[in-house]
Amino acid sequence: MPKLSDRVGTFTDSVIRRMTRISDACGAINLSQGFPDFDPPRELLDALADVAYHGPHQYSVTFGAENFREALARKAGLSLGRVLDPDKEIVVTCGGTEAMMCAVMTVCNPGDRIIVFSPFYENYGADAILSGADPIYVPLVPPHYDFDLGLVEDGFRQGAKAIIVCNPSNPCGKVFTRQELTAIGDLALKYDAFVITDEVYEHLVYAPNVHVPAASLPGLWEHVITCNSLSKTYSITGWRLGYLIAPEAVAECAKKVHDFLTVGAPSPLQEAAVVGLNFPPSYYDGLQALYTEKRDYFLAGLDRIGLKHNVPQGTYFVLVDIGDFLTLPQFRGYTDLAFCEWMITNVGVAAVPGSSFFREDVSDLIRLHFAREKDTLDEVIDRLAKLMELLK
Ligand code: GLN
Repeated sequence: MPKLSDRVGTFTDSVIRRMTRISDACGAINLSQGFPDFDPPRELLDALADVAYHGPHQYSVTFGAENFREALARKAGLSLGRVLDPDKEIVVTCGGTEAMMCAVMTVCNPGDRIIVFSPFYENYGADAILSGADPIYVPLVPPHYDFDLGLVEDGFRQGAKAIIVCNPSNPCGKVFTRQELTAIGDLALKYDAFVITDEVYEHLVYAPNVHVPAASLPGLWEHVITCNSLSKTYSITGWRLGYLIAPEAVAECAKKVHDFLTVGAPSPLQEAAVVGLNFPPSYYDGLQALYTEKRDYFLAGLDRIGLKHNVPQGTYFVLVDIGDFLTLPQFRGYTDLAFCEWMITNVGVAAVPGSSFFREDVSDLIRLHFAREKDTLDEVIDRLAKLMELLK
């Protein structure tokens, strides 16, 4: 066979999405790849039905349909506290995934450094590799997932062009405080670098934590590329609607990258989603209340059966400690990945091994998500209770 690129040998497929395939094949309850099992809001479904007959069905403007960008500018402008120009400062992408890839490709040359917190959402590794950039990892240290600002500064001193900030953070659920973001932003200004944020969980934040968009901080607008998506906010992960927001000079270049990567996000789905972008604030309050209830319910279930876990400040993920199981003779030599595969077939619950997210040698955590109906969460707790019996 002719030789393939060196690049494709430097990363694996996504373990998150691999676990979904294994879970589906085994008929397990899938708490690995994060997506809800409930329907999007009725208004979006009605709009989608309408679009089926009235269109559009052809390409939209490459960087997003005009009405979709206008609605986005209104919604995101409120949270950023500025008037956004829908023509010049927004690029609509195929999911937050493309927004992130597009942002990193727009900023980095091959050989550039980029700071990534660890644990990190696994896409960032591939984003860096595909852009030719070298990650500098800075640990978020459990139990509170704090970081050492000195290490961030070291990264910038080594010439990092950008720092990726996932806020709220997948997989550890950290919500960065205004002080933390200001400190990171000050360094980005000092070293003339970018802050690339992934804010797809912006509305899944649990009180008393609050989401602060980095681009809203005084003096930072010119240095921030905000990546986001409609997937989690409107329960439409399959629609693949994402976007990035950046100052005009950056957005103009991101538009070019995006145009040649994917041409555009699906126009019928942009049209149907406009109604969601125009929802009143009460919708987002309701979403937050719904997920707060799910988080509290699921964590209470884990506590009841005695499974140790972190308490996420945001996102719909929880990291569960499997260290005690790995000391049992039957799991001798098991990696967290092997444990997750065992769990799918023997417990009927799919999780993501923590090692997919950590640069450090972490093998005793797995990630579960709780974007599931209560009945399903009950069933998961019942199955995990049987798992706990191994420890007795
Ligand atoms: N963000 C989700 C997760 O971490 C999945 C996103 C995706 O697979 N594109 O599970």
